[in-house]
Amino acid sequence: MRFSQIAGFLTLSAAISLVPGCGNNGGEQPAQTVSAHDRATAPEQDLITATDIIEADANPGEWLSHGRTYSEQRFSPLATITAENAGDLGLAWSFDLGTSRGIEATPIVHDGIIYVTANWNVVHALDATTGKEIWRYDPKVDKSRAAILCCDVVNRGVAIWGDKVYMGTIDGRLIAIDAKNGEAAWDVGTVDLSKPYSITGAPRIVKGKVIIGNGGAELGVRGYVTAYDAETGDQLWRFYTVPGNPAEGHENKLMKRIAQTWTGRWWEVGDGGGTVWDSMAYDPELDLFYIGVGNGSPWNHQLRSPDGGDNLFLSSIVALRPDTGEYVWHYQTTPAETWDFTATQHMILADLEVDGAVRKVIMQAPKNGFFYVLDRENGELLSAQNFVPVNWATHIDMETGRPAEIAAARWPGKQPYGQLPGPLGAHNWHPMSYSPDTGLVYIPAQEAPWAYGEDPDFTYKDNLWNTGSDFFYSALPTEAAQFKAAKAALKGRLLAWDPVKQEAVWAVEHGGPWNGGVLSTAGGLVFQGTADAHFAAYDARTGEKKWRFFTQTGIVAAPISYKIGDDQYVAVAAGWGGSFVLGYGGVFPTGSEAKLGRILAFKLAANGSLPELENVAGPIDVPALITADPDIIAAGQRAYGDYCSVCHGDQAYSSGLVPNLRFSPMTADEEAWRSVVVEGALAPLGMPDFSGLIDEETAAAIRAYVISEANSGRDKAFYEEIAKQ
Ligand code: CA
Repeated sequence: MRFSQIAGFLTLSAAISLVPGCGNNGGEQPAQTVSAHDRATAPEQDLITATDIIEADANPGEWLSHGRTYSEQRFSPLATITAENAGDLGLAWSFDLGTSRGIEATPIVHDGIIYVTANWNVVHALDATTGKEIWRYDPKVDKSRAAILCCDVVNRGVAIWGDKVYMGTIDGRLIAIDAKNGEAAWDVGTVDLSKPYSITGAPRIVKGKVIIGNGGAELGVRGYVTAYDAETGDQLWRFYTVPGNPAEGHENKLMKRIAQTWTGRWWEVGDGGGTVWDSMAYDPELDLFYIGVGNGSPWNHQLRSPDGGDNLFLSSIVALRPDTGEYVWHYQTTPAETWDFTATQHMILADLEVDGAVRKVIMQAPKNGFFYVLDRENGELLSAQNFVPVNWATHIDMETGRPAEIAAARWPGKQPYGQLPGPLGAHNWHPMSYSPDTGLVYIPAQEAPWAYGEDPDFTYKDNLWNTGSDFFYSALPTEAAQFKAAKAALKGRLLAWDPVKQEAVWAVEHGGPWNGGVLSTAGGLVFQGTADAHFAAYDARTGEKKWRFFTQTGIVAAPISYKIGDDQYVAVAAGWGGSFVLGYGGVFPTGSEAKLGRILAFKLAANGSLPELENVAGPIDVPALITADPDIIAAGQRAYGDYCSVCHGDQAYSSGLVPNLRFSPMTADEEAWRSVVVEGALAPLGMPDFSGLIDEETAAAIRAYVISEANSGRDKAFYEEIAKQ
């Protein structure tokens, strides 16, 4: 049966709302509508130039670039809101984005207007005083690309320059939008769409060049960053982070040189990876542009580079010349990366006194759990210390700059290894913040263990996950006490870290991992949202909680601050989602399950409130138990782990960001299931096309497993009860 026939027994809209894929757009309501007479163009604005961003502190009321300054400190010099008066904060306004997925954007503020992105790359320009929409731009992305996105249909924000707003899209485009009226000025493709590339990161703009990377290293791509002329969209340069197939000729001497650190035929099993999907920074004085490089593809180093090798520039910070893309230096955090240990996490530039001398440093707390301080002029390692418990390396050797690895972490004899941190990282993309006032870095840190082991059946599959690491080992236990223990091992905290002494100063424990990014302010405050749907202010020196607000949905994005007239605002994008939520949001509920996306703005003496939460419809019937041989269910569980769990959740119980297969009519109907899983009937809507990869027998086994989970007795009440403990 094909999709048209499925649509015959459900209605088309119902079918869409039940699409079993990471790309489901189901249930989303249109954003607050702007009627024709409300629609306006923005007032005349000052053009944004390099000087404006370099001298951002001369205009502390604005937020002109992703990390506010090129140093990406995410520190606001505004001090109207202080530790003393933070208790008077209230909601000034909120804006409904009309979405139901993760919202990861950092808003940009200029001339009283907020520019912010929502799911599916819709850009909103809002009046920063009232939250009223001025214009909206929808690039109408190809939603089928959602099938190749590892970690939700998210975007981390726009950049502004001159009179334009710039955004990268999930279908690999870079778009310039007229800041005045929200109309596209130019729109260029930045990727080969035959490969599983996507863009979720925010562009950075340096000296009139828009620089953008991409993602896709879970599935199989070769990473790079590209610079485009901000005015015309013309491509100026491209820097590859890993070498290509030597037989096709290396692009330059650097590629030839780094190819010496690779072995085997990496271009046949995932193109190497090394995507630059988030973090970048710029030092105008040194004229160095820094990029954070991601994990290998496949994750498993032995499959990617079987005869060894460090695999440059995976998991590295690389310094480039922004005019040409010329390589200057690199530091590799995790040589021979095999754990999805990206170095794409937020990088902060600051001047720190180290051993009596002021050094220009770059700081990063990547997934691997160590906090690095490097000299940003030459990449020299100044210090490194673990900021959470780690068991893959004992320390970083200061002579060689390399981690002293624990041998078991590479699965000798193919023995799986329970490790901290895992692929979710000790710190993921959620931005941290550095306060020059306190000298502390505020990290959204977490502990999320993972059991790694080799996938014995690995073969490269186009446009699907290709990790070479068997997810079977990391599936959660089903027995209640063990499940409870697994829950207890998941931790998250706001960690105040002294980067000079390399030690914790204070920490605030949260209910679990996957909390929001951080803002620090000259008012002596640190702001952070949490997975359990709260937004709070803490004393920057002590961690004492000064204020908190119930936001109805979990927060993963980072807050910003700006000033209009005499009022200092703190704003944050709320919307629960991302990779942790797709995989574990169902089995580890946080109390933030409301599926909505909003921009929230707070100021002193405001008393706005959010609309009351509507009752979310409960799950429909559990599919009737079918009798299946335990061996078939076990085979189904294994295949579910290989193909389904990253989107539809552990134990076949999803967060609801994508359909919960236990309650899906597709599961109840054997023929519908077969058509979707075996024939790719819903591929146009973002469900991966598994045709040719999952055969009839395996599809039936996966269905038998899902139905057995649906009847397991581990239901919503079970997961909620354990979440409370
Ligand atoms: Ca990754």
